[in-house]
Amino acid sequence: MIKIEHLNMHFGDKEVLKDINLTVKKGEVVALIGPSGSGKSTLLRCLNFLVKPTSGRLNIDGINLDVTDVSKKDIFSLRQKTAMVFQNYNLLKNMTALGNIMEPMVTVQKMNKKEAETIALELLERVGLKNHKNSYPSQLSGGQQQRVGIARAMAVNSNIILFDEPTSSLDPELVGDVLEVIKKLAIETQKTMLIVTHEMKFAKEVSDKIVFLENGSIVVDGTPNEIFVESKNTRVSNFVNKMT
Ligand code: ADP
Ligand code: MG
Repeated sequence: MIKIEHLNMHFGDKEVLKDINLTVKKGEVVALIGPSGSGKSTLLRCLNFLVKPTSGRLNIDGINLDVTDVSKKDIFSLRQKTAMVFQNYNLLKNMTALGNIMEPMVTVQKMNKKEAETIALELLERVGLKNHKNSYPSQLSGGQQQRVGIARAMAVNSNIILFDEPTSSLDPELVGDVLEVIKKLAIETQKTMLIVTHEMKFAKEVSDKIVFLENGSIVVDGTPNEIFVESKNTRVSNFVNKMT
């Protein structure tokens, strides 16, 4: 579903990503962990060209390209293939929960409003917010807003969802509900998920694979057991121990 080959990214002369190689199969859930500033967000954003990589190849759900040679049309296709859930939800303030979820279906997929509404209502139910369909973002808690953000990403009808620290803006008591929703969707759907998170327990429970980034490089990747239990890499175990 995702193949990243020799991906590099620099801002000026600062190398942010160095020779990233990663393969993710359909339906896999991958957690990206690592210290702040290690390049996790940049890596996610390179996959849909919110950040332009400097060199390398990407194969995203059948779109295979050299990152130095991409058209506007390629970027549009990449964004249709990858829905994103942001740290700060990025909901439209002047639209209700229902309206926010319908928005990508109506504007990008050109679906008629009635059909989009039916799907949006189902998604609201799946994230436990059916009773809030007419609420505006300002009337919802952070956790509820993020669950709308997740429902909106589900509405994009892509095989891939990218989560960039989906719970790091939330008050601690609201984190659990959002993680539960993500976990449930990871089990119930065949979506391929890349999740940047500092929630180690969640990463361990939800992921098929954990990728540890440091200074723009993948230091190790492996199953949760390999990373959390068996890892002989002291940088990884120090980080994990500090976070748990
Ligand atoms: P993480 O998500 O792991 O915390 P980021 O991907 O946000 O890390 O950042 C990786 C590095 O790239 C950091 O050193 C950060 O300062 C740098 N960086 C991120 N965005 C920009 C930018 N727009 N301009 C210059 N440097 C940036
Ligand atoms: Mg980040």
